[in-house]
Amino acid sequence: MGAPGVGKTALTRQFMTSEYKGTYAEANTPDILEPERNVHVLLDGEESTLHFLDEEQHPDFEAEDIPIDAYVVVFAVSNTASYNQAVKSLRTLREEHRINKAVILVGNKIDLARQRRIAKHDALRIAKKFDCRYIETSAALNHHVDELLVGILSQIRQQIAPSDD
Ligand code: GDP
Repeated sequence: MGAPGVGKTALTRQFMTSEYKGTYAEANTPDILEPERNVHVLLDGEESTLHFLDEEQHPDFEAEDIPIDAYVVVFAVSNTASYNQAVKSLRTLREEHRINKAVILVGNKIDLARQRRIAKHDALRIAKKFDCRYIETSAALNHHVDELLVGILSQIRQQIAPSDD
C-alpha cells in the first residue's frame, strides 16, 4: 500500500535481486499470479514464496476475498503527503477494519537525505501507535531492502506459528 511514486515497484524489483532469493522453480508458480510479483525467499533453511499485490491494482481487495498475510505500507521520507496517506492507511487497517495481521511501515527514499521531511522518530512513534514495525529503506541504493524482505517473511511465519518465547 502507499501513494503513487513512493517506490513500491522499485522495492519489489529489488527483492528479486535479494541474496535471500530461493531457487523454487518458476514452473511451480501459479499462472494467475503475475510472476514479476512473486519472490521466492530462502530463510532459515526453508523456502517461501511471497506474492506482492499492489493496492492500486486491487483497490477492493477485501471484496475480492484475497487472503492477505501481511500489509506493507510505504511512504517516501521526502514526501509529507505520502506519509499522511500512510498514516491514514494504518488507521484504516487497524481501527476501521480491525486487522490484526502483520503490518510493516516503510519509509523509503532515505538516500534523499537533504529532502527528508519525515523524521525517523515521528514515523517510529506512529508505527508504535498502530502496533507495526518500522523500517527505513532506499530502493535506489538497495539499502535495508533485504532486511525488509526478511522482516515481512519473519512476521508472517511468526503469526502462523508463534514461538513459545
Ligand atoms: P510506485 O508508484 O510506488 O510503484 O513507485 P516507483 O517504484 O515506480 O518509483 C517512483 C519513482 O521513484 C521512480 O522514478 C523510482 O526510480 C524512484 N524511486 C523509488 N525508490 C527510490 C529510492 O529509494 N530513492 C530515490 N531517490 N528514488 C526512488
